[in-house]
Amino acid sequence: MSIPASAYVIEPAAAATLPVEGTDGRFPVHRVYCVGRNYAAHAVEMGHDPDKEPPFFFQKNPDNLVTGGTFPYPPASNDVHHEIEMMVALKDGGRDIPVETALACVYGYGVALDMTRRDLQAKAKDMGRPWETGKAFEASAPCSPLIPAERIGHPTRGAIWLDVNGQSRQTGDLNQMIWKVPEMISYLSSLFTLAPGDVILTGTPSGVGAVERGDVLEGYVEGVGDLKVRVV
Ligand code: MN
Repeated sequence: MSIPASAYVIEPAAAATLPVEGTDGRFPVHRVYCVGRNYAAHAVEMGHDPDKEPPFFFQKNPDNLVTGGTFPYPPASNDVHHEIEMMVALKDGGRDIPVETALACVYGYGVALDMTRRDLQAKAKDMGRPWETGKAFEASAPCSPLIPAERIGHPTRGAIWLDVNGQSRQTGDLNQMIWKVPEMISYLSSLFTLAPGDVILTGTPSGVGAVERGDVLEGYVEGVGDLKVRVV
């Protein structure tokens, strides 16, 4: 049921949307779920044992996803890290979705950066506090347009990498994900009611590191697309 514009007591925020590659269509974003430590080598570099931990998730805000090609260095941090990730966009949802049928919920895929104020995240971890200050700040998820699964299928292997100023920083393969896309959808649906418009960031391979103003980040996910972002 649509609400007439005159009924809002303040101006409503613009809907968060993502472009779809090769079309004028827009994908409306509902929620953004991000998985932690989903590549073994990254779990190890962050000081954890990759074999003993079930998946865990945090969230970003829908309007943290931006496609403008620039990343404004955020306030309150001196240690902002890049994390290159494959992004999954859902066209369907529900609760207790079986692993076997989970891919039917997927609209498409994209390339995203889970930009992280590592210093604030580390402080939050030390104090047992939530991660929003480290993860869910403005423009914290630069991303590519989505590409529909009906065009590319469902990628399960292939290179994922990030270069900074032409130098290789992160490299991995989608087949190194500890929790696969259907497993993440199924697991999330046991905790939340998933919905059309939900987006999942699927974790980052090893090699995360700090960015500086002026850096040019170039990311790639084989079979999905690429991303070029300048830190300003
Ligand atoms: Mn991440």
